[in-house]
Amino acid sequence: GSSSGNNYDYSFKILLIGDSGVGKSSLLVSFISNHVNDLSPTIGVDFKIKMLTIDGKRLKLTIWDTAGQEKFRTLTSSYYRGAQGIILVYDVTRRETFTNLSDVWKKEIELYSTNQDCIKVLVGNKVDKDSERAVSRAEGIALAEDYGCLFLECSAKTRENVEQCFKELALKISEVPSLLEEGSTSAKRNILKQKQEYQAPPKGGCCS
Ligand code: GDP
Repeated sequence: GSSSGNNYDYSFKILLIGDSGVGKSSLLVSFISNHVNDLSPTIGVDFKIKMLTIDGKRLKLTIWDTAGQEKFRTLTSSYYRGAQGIILVYDVTRRETFTNLSDVWKKEIELYSTNQDCIKVLVGNKVDKDSERAVSRAEGIALAEDYGCLFLECSAKTRENVEQCFKELALKISEVPSLLEEGSTSAKRNILKQKQEYQAPPKGGCCS
């Protein structure tokens, strides 16, 4: 059908957050393309759209990737605005990507996220590299309990649990009435404007 038509019941804005190299773009590509990919280092995408039907509801997911801007810590309020779901990604083989979620990204979410009810899922990626694991599953579970969010370990490479990440998040969002109202209006109306703002070069140069 037409992508501009009202061929869905609800529209959700979902963000991928986490350190550079944890596999955010790979997770997105893996989810969108429905098959195992040759993973190569990605130049980030800005956003991709995926339609899902859950419990008879047609959901339009607009999933935003940081397009590498997290390296320069230049994610701004426009990236976060109106998001109903946030996927917090770390790499199970790189411990600092796990600790940075608490030290950096959680604070940024609290600062910029406009939706109090926003649903989060903590995702430990690259479980296919089990011999190099540096963060245990138990630690992931404990952090998710601390954040009060969902938890999954997955692999963008093998696609293990990749669909579940997005589907469980979408299901949770669809169960929160306040997020449903937000979704059908603001996400659609603001998406072009947000894209323009997001792609504008940062003012005054790079990071602190
Ligand atoms: P981003 O910077 O967070 O978007 O990370 P990328 O998606 O660009 O991935 C960084 C690197 O990790 C790339 O070389 C990917 O091929 C690799 N990668 C991503 N996900 C996985 C995974 O699940 N398993 C393995 N083995 N490599 C992965």
